Amino acid sequence: MDMNTIEAVVPTTDPAEWRDGDAWLAGGTVLFSYGSLAFGPRPLRRLLDLGTAGWTAVTVSGDGIDLAATCTVAELYRLPESAEAAGRPWPGLDLVRPCCDSFVASFKVWNTSTVGGNLCTSLPAGPMISLCAGLDGVATILGPGGASRTVPVADFVTGDMKNCLAPGELLRSIHLPASALASRVAFRRLSLSNLGRSGVLLIGRLDGGTSLVLTVTAATKRPVQLRFDGLPEQHQLAAALDDGIPQELYHDDIHGLPAWRRDMTYRLAEEIRAELGAPEGATGLQASGDFWPPRALPPLAGRDALSKGA
Ligand SMILES: Cc1cc2nc3c(=O)[nH]c(=O)nc-3n(C[C@H](O)[C@H](O)[C@H](O)COP(=O)(O)OP(=O)(O)OC[C@H]3O[C@@H](n4cnc5c(N)ncnc54)[C@H](O)[C@@H]3O)c2cc1C
Repeated sequence: MDMNTIEAVVPTTDPAEWRDGDAWLAGGTVLFSYGSLAFGPRPLRRLLDLGTAGWTAVTVSGDGIDLAATCTVAELYRLPESAEAAGRPWPGLDLVRPCCDSFVASFKVWNTSTVGGNLCTSLPAGPMISLCAGLDGVATILGPGGASRTVPVADFVTGDMKNCLAPGELLRSIHLPASALASRVAFRRLSLSNLGRSGVLLIGRLDGGTSLVLTVTAATKRPVQLRFDGLPEQHQLAAALDDGIPQELYHDDIHGLPAWRRDMTYRLAEEIRAELGAPEGATGLQASGDFWPPRALPPLAGRDALSKGA
């Protein structure tokens, strides 16, 4: 896509430099696909390039994991097998690879698109939104003059391609707390076609070994998170979905009709309830959806993707 309205590409991470007609540039897989006329009433004039930010992609510490907004999908995919994460009592890491795989991405998208770009694009099928919301991620957002605020990722996306960023605000990072990473998790995803975009993506977490947190994404225009004291009965789960997701919140596009997304949400939620209610490693459970064999990873060239915190 030609972006022939662009007059300058400015390497910066300073929100004070942002002005009308600017867009933050991360991996560029959306910006360069949609073109400079697709991001508001007026054409884009400048790209504020995060490519030289130099932010460490992934930082692991006892408190959890910090993902820089500029962390790529390829860098994130390596995390579960990294020396920094290995041996941590964090079953939540099992969500990282299925969520990365949910991109069903080309080589280009896999290696250049970023976690932050995915959140900020705010598509219902954003798998980094699913991962970070499902693990109670908290986004740090920078504004001009050194301003900074935090927002739970579950509240960051407010609708189809809508989020809570004010013009010029910069998503800096996402913190995934150790408490959520320590929970048992279950993942379900469905697409209408083989290698298609997610139509329904649900993540379940069993906090403290007993309390269910269910995060619904892709089926809905924005993430919906349901929290239960303990593990609900089937009818209680269905009633909570009735209350938590009005019909008009189900997304409607080429990747699935709202009625199908709704039916599959109830089905996958029940599968997750059954899985997390069964002893760990139980067999014979219903598991609808897409799961992928592990990828062979080439060596990471050139840059230090991970760092270990205190
Ligand atoms: C073939 C193909 C398949 C795709 N499949 C999927 C899919 O299955 N699901 C999905 O969700 N997306 C998909 N995408 C869209 C896109 O690749 C992803 O959403 C990707 O994660 C965007 O990241 P990026 O770094 O390339 O963003 P960019 O293109 O650099 O930026 C996207 C938007 O986010 C803003 N932005 C980026 N970083 C920040 C930041 N740190 N702070 C504030 N604003 C920021 C930009 O200004 C821009 O408006 C696909 C794209 C292609 C081309």
